[in-house]
Amino acid sequence: MNQPKKLSLHWKILIAMVSGAAAGALLSAAGYAWLVTDYVKPVGSLFIRLISMVAVPLVLASLVVGVASMKDLKKLSRIGTKTFALYLATTAVAITIGLLIANLTGPGKGLDDSVKSQLRTEYSDVVKSKLSDQPQFSVTEQLLDIVPYNPFHSLATERGEMLQIVFFALFLGIALNRIPHEKAEPVVRFFDGLTDATIKIIELVMKAAPYGVFALIAAVIADFGFEILLPLGKYFFVVVAGLVLHVLIVYAPMIAFLSKLTVRKFFKAISEVQLLAFSSSSSAATLPLNMDVCQKKLGIKEEVTGFVLPLGATINMDGTALYQGVAAVFIAQVYGIPLHWSEQLTIILTATLASIGTAAVPGVGMIMLVIVLQSVHIPPEGIALIFGVDRVLDMLRTTVNVTGDAVVASVIATQENLFEENPDAKTI
Ligand code: ASP
Repeated sequence: MNQPKKLSLHWKILIAMVSGAAAGALLSAAGYAWLVTDYVKPVGSLFIRLISMVAVPLVLASLVVGVASMKDLKKLSRIGTKTFALYLATTAVAITIGLLIANLTGPGKGLDDSVKSQLRTEYSDVVKSKLSDQPQFSVTEQLLDIVPYNPFHSLATERGEMLQIVFFALFLGIALNRIPHEKAEPVVRFFDGLTDATIKIIELVMKAAPYGVFALIAAVIADFGFEILLPLGKYFFVVVAGLVLHVLIVYAPMIAFLSKLTVRKFFKAISEVQLLAFSSSSSAATLPLNMDVCQKKLGIKEEVTGFVLPLGATINMDGTALYQGVAAVFIAQVYGIPLHWSEQLTIILTATLASIGTAAVPGVGMIMLVIVLQSVHIPPEGIALIFGVDRVLDMLRTTVNVTGDAVVASVIATQENLFEENPDAKTI
């Protein structure tokens, strides 16, 4: 007897997304937004907590195993250098695209004075409180901070200090390679088991993804003031166009020419990762699924996914960087501050650094934008202007962030010949 064909997860998530949006819109139009906030939103928050729960142990465990399994230090430094270089280069290109498109289209020019002051007053309180949380930025401090005094503290903070965890894990992995095998082996096996178990947790939790996504999207739509989209429409679409352009002119060619995968196979496989990134606005929460999909669907070996992806989720944020480029130009245009090309170069540098330091959780990209603005003397209060549409842009830029990590993992796996036997890789 023919079994009815099961709907694949990404279709289920997509359906949940559309119906969540419809439910959120209908309920808030009927005056029942509170119903969504009180009863639906918590389901989304529960789902986010469940997928975030494994991020910290997974980053530590998979990086330790990833590095410890590269016995050859030369190979490790080769893969490490290539990974860093690709991450930095794609980020710099992303900001450049953002700057070019914002300069060409001028989304901040001609914004009505009344709209400007409305936006400023509407969000001035939230922005003030966000700015007062913002520590003074110093490159030296930032770099020193990467080395944790106590890695257990980094692991134990609420969302984990990822950059510090990555640093410790890399060192631990290298050290395990340099101590006698019989001592290193149980440690590596422990972390290896922990990696597999955390990924298994994600596979289980993902079964509930359609419900979680439904709730998350319904809550975003019920909270979102669509009126805001009108005055900020041009800015919004310039960011979206930049993100789409980055995927089309950077990622697609990288997959087509630098990896053994076809563009179609790649995007088909990672669609559920993208949907989860979009719904959760968090690269960290999406990391475990990204690792699972890259390994099982794209056939990339754990050696690569365990190293390249956690590193990428922590330091590689092309979508965030691109958005920061557009936002900086937009705010400068609204304030009537001309940006000389040397200042735009400063934006490329600071936004690259800022995106490395951006925590992979919702909304942090906008806070780090303050650093970019300050570097070119744009008043940081300017973020009030873009606050209203940031929630949705966060969803989109996070989608690009995780896609970039998977692209680099595919390229590195191809160059290092680290794919599982996967005879149909080019044929799908
Ligand atoms: N939410 C983004 C991420 O997790 C970071 C940001 O741009 O706010 O990738």
